[in-house]
Amino acid sequence: MIIRKSPEEIERIADAGRVLARCLNMLRNKARAGVTTGELDEAAERFIRSQDAEPAFKGYRGFPGSICASPNSMVVHGIPGPYALRRGDILSLDVGVVMDGWVADAAVTVPIGRVSQAAGRLLAATRAALFEAVDQCRAGNRLGDVSHAVERRIEADGFAVIRSLVGHGIGRDMHEDPQIPNFGQPGTGPVLEEGMVLAVEPMVNVGDHEIRVAGDGWSVYSRDGSLAAHFEHTVAIGPEGPRILTPWHLEEERGSRSEAGLAASGSR
Ligand code: MG
Repeated sequence: MIIRKSPEEIERIADAGRVLARCLNMLRNKARAGVTTGELDEAAERFIRSQDAEPAFKGYRGFPGSICASPNSMVVHGIPGPYALRRGDILSLDVGVVMDGWVADAAVTVPIGRVSQAAGRLLAATRAALFEAVDQCRAGNRLGDVSHAVERRIEADGFAVIRSLVGHGIGRDMHEDPQIPNFGQPGTGPVLEEGMVLAVEPMVNVGDHEIRVAGDGWSVYSRDGSLAAHFEHTVAIGPEGPRILTPWHLEEERGSRSEAGLAASGSR
């Protein structure tokens, strides 16, 4: 059963989502060569708790971290620890925040310094697939329209959608109905209705779509060892279309605008 949320309840999720967006942008800025994923985890936990919120992942089914930090061929669910980032890595950062009992969930994959052309294309395609899928989160559309938007974009770019991991509904619980595959037929599946809140999360490999779970029981890797990316937003279906509740992209755009401004004015 897909639980619809009232406008007031959606505001509570948006409150958690704003904290989450700030946390992800703090992590993006901190993620540099030499920094360990454990250090990022500590910084995230400190920040989230300073905002009167809690890290949703910590203790979830025994997960030890406040964030998932998944470098290179690791897709999702990486346990933060001693791994020190290297220039040329890509790092998927996934964060959940609970505030007043409401949960928000979002992820970005970031380049560490200059990355390969393939890595750059993977990040651009996965990010674009997220926004194309978010644009389908409209009352009257079907869930298959959301799923298909990811698949269409990723396959056009020649990458592989991971089939065995899915997005999800979200609210009081981090994982609610429905499951949201990143592939599917348009015009199929449940009809989307105002008040539904969905965590849309394309997970993509450069190579084959198969994955494997490591011996720690958490870390998910591409089976062929190829690079993997993950972008996620929590999205409410509103009266005027999709409303992104975890606006990490707004900070990102502000950042790139100010960089462009500096370049234009000739500053160093
Ligand atoms: Mg999620």
